[in-house]
Amino acid sequence: MKKKQLRKILLTILLSAFLTVILTRHLYDMGSAQMYRKMELKDDWYRAHFLDEEMERIEAQLSPECRALYRNVMREIQYFPVPESTQDDSLTVSYVDSWQAERNYKGTSGHEGTDIMASKNERGLYPVVSMTDGTVSNLGWLEKGGYRVGITSDSGTYYYYAHLDSYADIKEGDRVKAGEFLGYMGDSGYGGEGTKGKFAVHLHVGIYTYNDETEISVNPYYTLLKLEGRKLSYEFS
Ligand SMILES: [Zn+2]
Repeated sequence: MKKKQLRKILLTILLSAFLTVILTRHLYDMGSAQMYRKMELKDDWYRAHFLDEEMERIEAQLSPECRALYRNVMREIQYFPVPESTQDDSLTVSYVDSWQAERNYKGTSGHEGTDIMASKNERGLYPVVSMTDGTVSNLGWLEKGGYRVGITSDSGTYYYYAHLDSYADIKEGDRVKAGEFLGYMGDSGYGGEGTKGKFAVHLHVGIYTYNDETEISVNPYYTLLKLEGRKLSYEFS
């Protein structure tokens, strides 16, 4: 075979491959656009994939409400809710994506949040801080959430922190800044007021939005991942 012929064949193969990639990509995007154009806040896909890479990629195709919530949370979140210890490196936390995982307390339900587990199972040790600026809109006991605090941001998004051991000096109606101390991580809940020790020490984080009075929770996992590089340092050991 002549050199010229070989070059021609190679060039044709390269060009075909290139065109295939471009075309596939284009068709895929068109498919995604159609698939997501009608997405509403209550859609399961949106709630589960909230703030993940795929959602970022199709951001332009989200409904106005979905995009507004996405942008509000992106803008508001400033700090990871559990600071690092300046005194003890072993006091770490860990979490996995447990969105809608089965929970069994007085019946079966899907997990509406992320559990940040403490490496040391000691209540009242790890501080909890607000991820955002906002107003303390709920404070006190909930059967499932134990000692919980709810912060409503200025966009109206509700950030829920549950199972605390004790509270900082805050009350309902107070303004808080992102990074402000809310209380200590604990294991409260699953019973009457003051019930502790029914599970391991952890912080349950929830994110809720409201659409025509309907409360809609979204998966906080990817929000927490985004805040991995935004951990405050506190003195505790
Ligand atoms: Zn939880």
